[in-house]
Amino acid sequence: MILRVTQYGEPILRTVGEPITEFDDDLAQLADDMVDTMYDEDGIGLAAQQVNLALQFCVLDVRPPEGEKAPFEYSFDGKQPPLDLIMPMALANPKVTIIDQSEDIYEEGCLSFPDVRGRVTRPIGVRCEFQDTEGNLHVLEATGLLGRCILHETDHLNGKLFIDTMNKRDLQRMTPRIKKIKRATRDFLKTQI
Ligand SMILES: [Zn+2]
Repeated sequence: MILRVTQYGEPILRTVGEPITEFDDDLAQLADDMVDTMYDEDGIGLAAQQVNLALQFCVLDVRPPEGEKAPFEYSFDGKQPPLDLIMPMALANPKVTIIDQSEDIYEEGCLSFPDVRGRVTRPIGVRCEFQDTEGNLHVLEATGLLGRCILHETDHLNGKLFIDTMNKRDLQRMTPRIKKIKRATRDFLKTQI
């Protein structure tokens, strides 16, 4: 089922997620719905806050188009399984540590900010411990786009947004669009009372 994606200005996007404690059918269904929603919006990641839930839970799929090489390195539980075996991926209670501090600049977007893009500087290498929808513990290490996606999504789970660390010039350029989204959200929220 496709869910509504929350938009900038909705308080849920600034809410820190609660840990996942029940690894049941409902969680598996939520993962499926979030993946459907992410694909429907042509996204590569989606956090629980973006479907109006304050939880430590997100999904991602950064597979390159068929035949193309992935623009990142990764290991999953110490191995390199084909991406088709591990994606789409749902991450419950992810804990991120930086394993390569070198910085990389890349233009990011976010499904909660339609048509807003801007450069964000992030560390290159991350290690992410998380649980799957059955509660099994995994370790994912990643660089490049996958590492960046993990950082963007886990920021969401802690109420942080990409505009908080966006290049100042890009942020300035995008401010009219961001304000427009916020106004539309304010009007939407009025209809919800
Ligand atoms: Zn986002």
